[in-house]
Amino acid sequence: MPATLPVIALVVPCYNESAVLPLSIPVLLGVLDRMHTEGLCAADSFILCSDDGSTDNTWAVIESLHQSDPRVEGILLAHNRGQQAAMLAALTDLTPRCDAAITVDADLQDDPEAIVEMVRKFREGYDIVYGVRASRSTDTWFKRTSAKAFYNLQQALGVDTVYNHSEFRLMSRRALGMLKDYDESNLFLRGIFSHIGLPHTIVTYDRNPRIAGETKYSVAKLISVSIDGITSFTAKPMRIIFLIGLFLLLADIVVAVWVLVSHFQGRAISGWSSIMLSLWFLGSLVLIALGIIGEYVGKIFVEVKRRPRFAIQSRIGGEESAHCSYF
Ligand code: UDP
Ligand code: MG
Repeated sequence: MPATLPVIALVVPCYNESAVLPLSIPVLLGVLDRMHTEGLCAADSFILCSDDGSTDNTWAVIESLHQSDPRVEGILLAHNRGQQAAMLAALTDLTPRCDAAITVDADLQDDPEAIVEMVRKFREGYDIVYGVRASRSTDTWFKRTSAKAFYNLQQALGVDTVYNHSEFRLMSRRALGMLKDYDESNLFLRGIFSHIGLPHTIVTYDRNPRIAGETKYSVAKLISVSIDGITSFTAKPMRIIFLIGLFLLLADIVVAVWVLVSHFQGRAISGWSSIMLSLWFLGSLVLIALGIIGEYVGKIFVEVKRRPRFAIQSRIGGEESAHCSYF
């Protein structure tokens, strides 16, 4: 066993979770205790609850949990900004204080036992450990189907994410340091960590039902996160518009033949042929023009993000680079 055990931080985004936290936080503290006893993490490992501007008494519950056990800490966001922002705020806040952080939902749908497995993988040398759902039988049919469609659409558009992974994930201090180089406002964390790279692995788990309360994701919130998950990573939809325009321009030839044959056979009423020809031709030109503009907008989209162009994972000899300081 190494002389110093890693400090593990559990990051819990909470939005109106006052019914859930008194049940879930003791379970998570129990996991920290057990990991410490087994020599997996330091005694000062802690939990950081990120209250996403709750409108119930979640903050008061976090305060009382802190009174009972100072390892429970909290930050309160001034407004409800969504789970992504709540997690990012906590990850940014705790970065220098832990060796690895694990984001875990407040409702224990993410199996707490998988946390132990994640820390084991971290100690084997992995920087990122993705929690992957082996089954989601406890989710509704709508949730399962929409999630599957979303993963498939993301992959089809070339967005690099881990299938059936949500936000249950371990990130090393080095990975969290690299996260700071991503300045963009519309952060979609699971995609960013795939983008960062570094040694990574998965831990599978069965998704549990919510221990209390209701889901905090309305359909509108789900749609908004899904759109972010695609538009923050790829400008491909704009290229698809361009390709549709080109395809329609080719289809124009077939349409033109059909219109001209109908015209000369006298089957077309007066004016129909010219309207049809110009409609198809102009339609495809408009789409091609939009696609070309889209290509330039796509370039601007990539540039304004100012994402790191590379990240040095290791070095042999020479001076330490900025990124190597995350070790
Ligand atoms: N959450 C949040 N802000 C929001 C919505 C949700 O911080 O605007 C938190 C919520 O408290 C929970 C986690 O994100 O800890 C996942 O939310 P939920 O369990 O409601 O989603 P579901 O599991 O139904 O997809
Ligand atoms: Mg949940």
